Amino acid sequence: MSAPPATVLRTGLSALLEAVAAEAPHLDVRAPSAATAPFAWDAGTAPRHGEGVEVDGPAVAFPTTALEVQQLVRLAARYGVSVVPRGAGSGLSGGATATRDQLVVSTDRLDRIVEVSPADEIAVVEPGVLNAALNEHLAPLGLFYAPDPASWRISTIGGNIATNAGGLRCAKYGVTRESVLALDVVLADGSLVSIGHRSIKGVTGLDLVSLFVGSEGVLGIVVAATVRIRPLPVARRTVTAFFASTAAGAAAIGAITASRVRPSVIEFLDEPTLDGIDAANDSGLRTRGAALLLIELDGFGIEEQTAELTTALEAVGARVAVESEADAETLWELRRSGRRLGDGSWFVGGDVAVPKSRIADVFAGFPALEARYGVAVSAVAHAGDGNLHPVITLPIPAGADPATVPAVLHDAADDLVRAALSVGGTVSGEHGIGTVKRDLAAEELIERVRIAQLAIKHALDPAGLFNPGKAL
Ligand SMILES: Cc1cc2nc3c(=O)[nH]c(=O)nc-3n(C[C@H](O)[C@H](O)[C@H](O)COP(=O)(O)OP(=O)(O)OC[C@H]3O[C@@H](n4cnc5c(N)ncnc54)[C@H](O)[C@@H]3O)c2cc1C
Repeated sequence: MSAPPATVLRTGLSALLEAVAAEAPHLDVRAPSAATAPFAWDAGTAPRHGEGVEVDGPAVAFPTTALEVQQLVRLAARYGVSVVPRGAGSGLSGGATATRDQLVVSTDRLDRIVEVSPADEIAVVEPGVLNAALNEHLAPLGLFYAPDPASWRISTIGGNIATNAGGLRCAKYGVTRESVLALDVVLADGSLVSIGHRSIKGVTGLDLVSLFVGSEGVLGIVVAATVRIRPLPVARRTVTAFFASTAAGAAAIGAITASRVRPSVIEFLDEPTLDGIDAANDSGLRTRGAALLLIELDGFGIEEQTAELTTALEAVGARVAVESEADAETLWELRRSGRRLGDGSWFVGGDVAVPKSRIADVFAGFPALEARYGVAVSAVAHAGDGNLHPVITLPIPAGADPATVPAVLHDAADDLVRAALSVGGTVSGEHGIGTVKRDLAAEELIERVRIAQLAIKHALDPAGLFNPGKAL
């Protein structure tokens, strides 16, 4: 790429687009148009009822190499155009949203699995590789990549890294951060740096990999990742535990913690959630109980694990069953996508995390919240790591605008976050801060810590090129 001119006469996106045409026509950069409108939103902020879809979106670039990412970042810096890194856009916090004066750098075509090394137990991948695609590649080798957000079929490894995505199996294997060893990152000055190490251990210098994991695209663009892979478990088994009430089920989570069994997945579904899944799928779960702990065991000694888990759960009133493979598949699919929302109701979703011992307290607070705001509140929880996904709903009266979600739903959601904070929790367990939770994050982080975070951002990205208005 030729050197930037000594004097920049023009700034902004149109100047950048002209420079691409003149200096780097090999770069695939689309100008703002109605066709780029989907890049203005992520899954959490996209219009649910069609409003605003005629509006032009941002400019969007589709680099195919790290070098092209570097070229794009240098051009954006030269013309003062802010850059929004984007994976699949499945985020739920507005982290990848973009305006028509910004440049989205999509990782769509950075989708190569560069290396799999069973001997080192690592894979090296580009950021646009889908989580599911990596696991499909690894399965014939008897290996898997553990972090499994419920969006695993549609979300990218780069997006998972930038949000430090959690998932179902994180109960046993940890969140994305525990599976990332090294990153290649394009910084705001266009330089490409490698951070971390290929070895499982490594403590040289500050842990910049941990800093970048979960940084929501505000520090740089991840262009390659070295991730940990593991042998597929010798066995997997799905166990259900149904309870007579939400309170009884939530209280039983502690019985699993107190046992010696460490399931790979522990999902908790409360009574309204089971009702909602049944209504949408005719699945009949409520005939089996009012709340469900849906559990996966894996590894050696599966019979011993099942026996100890059953004893622990039956002692606290559960009806426990080992599910057939076919039933297990149905149950996991219902858990991942059975909760269809939005038909006839306004809804606001949430993502809070609390210490495991306080999960039951959060569920116990739902009736008071419902009474205070006149809304309905339910939740599923990644119970193994204290992460709840509450949903707050209100029926849409005849004639009301489905696109105008009443403020009361957001007020109730904010109150729920504050309830989580009051028991030692955090405003987001895995979806991130993005644009939608910045105010709440400010309630959690003390001023001195926020200043430190902004100083780190400034040190790496002094002009505020990457993803302004997000996360911090
Ligand atoms: C149905 C559904 C279920 C979900 N379930 C879960 C779940 O169980 N657990 C969970 O954690 N999340 C879940 N999510 C949220 C979402 O899928 C995750 O946040 C996911 O990690 C986002 O990946 P993405 O590729 O879609 O990233 P995007 O949405 O495109 O981007 C997310 C953030 O990462 C940044 N980013 C993306 N790629 C890069 C890169 N290469 N370099 C730097 N920054 C980058 C973006 O700027 C943005 O801030 C779910 C979403 C949906 C729609």
